[in-house]
Amino acid sequence: MKLIFLGPPGAGKGTIASKICENLGIPHISTGDLFRKAIKNQTELGKKVQQIIESGDLVPDALTVALVKERLNNPDVEKGYILDGFPRTIGQADSLSEFSSIDAVINFTITDDQVIKRLAGRRLCKNCGAGYHVDTVKPKEEGICDKCGGELIIRPDDAPEAIKNRLAVYYESTEPLIDYYRQKGILNDVDGSPEVAAVVKDTETTISAI
Ligand code: AMP
Repeated sequence: MKLIFLGPPGAGKGTIASKICENLGIPHISTGDLFRKAIKNQTELGKKVQQIIESGDLVPDALTVALVKERLNNPDVEKGYILDGFPRTIGQADSLSEFSSIDAVINFTITDDQVIKRLAGRRLCKNCGAGYHVDTVKPKEEGICDKCGGELIIRPDDAPEAIKNRLAVYYESTEPLIDYYRQKGILNDVDGSPEVAAVVKDTETTISAI
């Protein structure tokens, strides 16, 4: 099953995708995670995209599409995958259709107020990238990652100014993808506002009906 997880920043795409991928045994491909890894390792790509990402803008389509195309050459995608945070523009979606055939798109819906609340409370492991939230996804020990013991930090693009910009960028560039995929008949809406376990259940029910 080849799936796209769509929705505004903070809709829970990453959290839900990691749980569903674990259950289905397919890879979770997050362009945000791939870019953050490149930044952490200060690769050529990482140096190029660091400032763009920290301000909340989008990385140019050509770089992003090349990254995903390369990732999809990995043999682990044979049984399918979840693309989390890609595509984010119509141009990216058009490019994707040239090298992959997507079975379904899950669109996570959430209000702007919830987005702001979620992103402001979000924490990230500096070491392995696992995600947490000060109210809803607490680590066992405050400030420490359950999975690897790494330090939990606030993502630079979760700062208030960057959050505002990311929402504006979402409405301008990414929201049009809802109609794009609805017209193709493969869009499925899931309410992203309840707690994680409920959204995972709704998403699994939706996927099993595809
Ligand atoms: P995310 O972790 O999905 O919220 O992504 C973090 C940041 O990475 C975004 O705010 C963008 O700057 C960049 N990014 C991730 N995915 C894409 C994409 N498909 N196109 C362009 N930029 C992206």
